[in-house]
Amino acid sequence: MYTDLNGKVAVVTGASKGIGKAIALRLAQEHMKLVFNYHSDQNGAQVAVDQIKQNGGDAVAVQADVSKEEDVNKLVKTAEEEFGGLDLFINNAGMEKEVPTHKLELKDWQRVIDVNLTGTFLGTKAALNYFLDHNQAGNIINMSSVHQTISWPHFADYSASKGGSKLFTETVAKEYAPNNIRVNSIAPGAINTPINAKKFADPKAYADTAELVPMNRIGKPEEVAAAAAWLASSESSYVTGETIYVDGGMKLYPEFKEGRG
Ligand code: NAD
Repeated sequence: MYTDLNGKVAVVTGASKGIGKAIALRLAQEHMKLVFNYHSDQNGAQVAVDQIKQNGGDAVAVQADVSKEEDVNKLVKTAEEEFGGLDLFINNAGMEKEVPTHKLELKDWQRVIDVNLTGTFLGTKAALNYFLDHNQAGNIINMSSVHQTISWPHFADYSASKGGSKLFTETVAKEYAPNNIRVNSIAPGAINTPINAKKFADPKAYADTAELVPMNRIGKPEEVAAAAAWLASSESSYVTGETIYVDGGMKLYPEFKEGRG
C-alpha cells in the first residue's frame, strides 16, 4: 500500500477492461478517487465502478474517445467537478491492427496513431494544463509497450505509435520537470487481456508467445497495475522520463536465453 495516494484523484483511459481496468481497481485499493474512461463498453466500466463503490471507494465512469480533444478535456473536467482536482492521468487506451505493411490502409494506420499516440498527447496536454493552471505537482503515466523497442512486423502502425510515445514521454518529462510534473512510461510485454484473448485461447499460440519470454509465461494485468501504483506514488518521487518494462525479460533477446549465439 502507498498511503500517500489516499484521497488523490486519477483519470485512467480505456479502463473498462484489460490493463486499464486492473490499474483502476488497484488505484481504488490505494484509496484514490477514479475517473474511469471507457470508449464503448459502458457495462464493463459501470460494473467496475459499482464494485469500487460497494467497497467504500469513489469512482465515476465517463465515455470518451481519447482521439478527440473535447472528449479528453471532459475527463479532466469530471475529475475536478466530481472529486475536486486531479493528481494523476494515465494514458492507457490503445489498439492494434495486424496487417503486412504494404497492405495497411491509410485509414487503419491513422486510427492506430490517433488512439495510441495522439490520444496520449491529448491526455498529457489536458493534464499538464490542469497542473500548470493550479500551480501544483503532477503525475502522468503513458502505457507504451515492449514494441517501443522491439520492432514488430505486421504491426508497423502499433510499433510506430509506441516508439513515438517513448520519445514523446521523454520530451515532456524533460520539459516539465522544473514544474515538478513527472511523466513516465510503462512498457508491458505479453499480457493476458482481451486484446490478446483470441490468440491466447489457442494453446499453441500461447506457448509460442511464452517462448519469447525468458520467464516462460504470459503476464497478468495486475502485474502491470503494480508498476503503475509505484509510479503513481511518492516512492518513485525522483523518477521521470523513465520506462518501466513489465515483460518477464521479453526485451532481453530471448533467443539467447540458453547460451545460444
Ligand atoms: P484491451 O483491448 O483489453 O484494452 C484497451 C482499452 O482501450 C479498452 O478498454 C478499449 O475500449 C480502450 N480504447 C480503445 N480505443 C479507445 C478510444 N478511442 N478511446 C478510449 N478508449 C479506447 O487491451 P490491453 O491489453 O488492456 O491494452 C491496454 C494498453 O496496454 C494499450 O495501450 C496497449 O497497447 C498496451 N499494451 C498491452 C499489451 C498486452 O499484451 N496486452 C502489451 C503491451 C502494451
